[in-house]
Amino acid sequence: MRCEIIGVGTELLMGQIINTNARDVSGELFAVGVGVYYQSVVGDNRERLKEVFERALERADLVILTGGLGPTNDDITRDTVAEVLGLSQQKDAEWEKRLEEFFRRLGRPMAESNRRQALVPEGGILLSNERGTAPGIYLEKNGRTIVLLPGPPRELLPMLRDHVIPRLKVKLQDRGELAVFKSKALRVIELGESAMTEMIKPLLEAQKNPTIAPLAKSSEVHLRITARAATTEEAEALLSAEAEKIKKVLGDYIYGEDEEELELVVARLLWERKKTVALAESCSGGLLCHRLTNVPGSSSYLLGGFVTYSNEAKAGILGVKKELLESKGAVSAEVASMMAAGARKLCGADIGVGITGIAGPGGETPEKPLGLTFIGLSVPALDYTRRYEFWGGRLEIKERASQTALHLMRLYLLGKLR
Ligand code: ATP
Repeated sequence: MRCEIIGVGTELLMGQIINTNARDVSGELFAVGVGVYYQSVVGDNRERLKEVFERALERADLVILTGGLGPTNDDITRDTVAEVLGLSQQKDAEWEKRLEEFFRRLGRPMAESNRRQALVPEGGILLSNERGTAPGIYLEKNGRTIVLLPGPPRELLPMLRDHVIPRLKVKLQDRGELAVFKSKALRVIELGESAMTEMIKPLLEAQKNPTIAPLAKSSEVHLRITARAATTEEAEALLSAEAEKIKKVLGDYIYGEDEEELELVVARLLWERKKTVALAESCSGGLLCHRLTNVPGSSSYLLGGFVTYSNEAKAGILGVKKELLESKGAVSAEVASMMAAGARKLCGADIGVGITGIAGPGGETPEKPLGLTFIGLSVPALDYTRRYEFWGGRLEIKERASQTALHLMRLYLLGKLR
């Protein structure tokens, strides 16, 4: 079943409100197997709404219109739909009574325009609105299903879930199209979107069901796999098979699935391998510590964290040599390494992590550009440091520094840090 959603309202075109109804209606339809092929938005203008609605009838089996069902002159949806379909309108006596009762309780007279909200195009079914005065309408005409829903999301959503989706499910069942959709996200680290896409190109080109969609996040990439099937079990089997194929190609670049944040994965590894960690942070300002302590149970592996912003703190607390700070500068491989070793020694931890960099704005030199960051890992028999040039604003650089430090910790714990 092909669907088009039409949002009606000039305020949507003027950027005054976000079309959350389109997102929510699409999401609900997707879950039962209706494909939303188009989303349109049109202002409160009869001619343009007519044009958009007529086009939707040509290219969709199901047309859902949201908004414009109120009592005022600019609420034109119901009348325009009835006009295009050549339908007369009758008052629904029961709804009219409900409106009268509603206004009686408010102690206000009911305007004639409110009475018009009880009109239903011939053959249409009135969908009760428990939270407002505008009812929804469900219509079948010339093989098309047309649904009119009020604009306010708190009115629209219950109506959609309680009255529209159940009706559509029956239709989909009859057409043999009722489906279950399941999706899974694979979280990819270290590879950019293009490099990752290149690696799984044959899978992307062959995709049908499940579909695979890459989504670039600020310091990682997600691959969303979506399967459509007749049953949940079938959809899950399709998902797992596709995920296995992708994992074979991307290997350790995939660190987790769905809601598994990198800090959770690292925390789990620390816990499983019974390792402890101590942190020394400069430019990341404690963000790494914050992320690791977001995971419940962090006291079993995180012994301590130091935010050593000044040279004095780096030297006085962590024992970084003053000569090094002077000769190499605070943002250097040597200092990152000594910060990591200092934190590890102070806490008696298995792993020490040191982060030092230039988050900007300002502070950069031709030799040391903005975003330059060194991350050190101090573990028995190995002091390991890597140099990075992160891009972005201050917060993005902090985020990338903490993400990369977690990534290095993960590789070390997996025995893959070289
Ligand atoms: P009412 O009877 O309340 O007037 P209506 O069907 O006429 O309902 P509109 O007048 O089009 O609806 O919109 C009423 C309000 O609903 C808007 O001011 C806005 O807050 C919200 N709204 C309308 N359309 C959308 C949309 N597409 N996405 C999110 N919110 C919306």
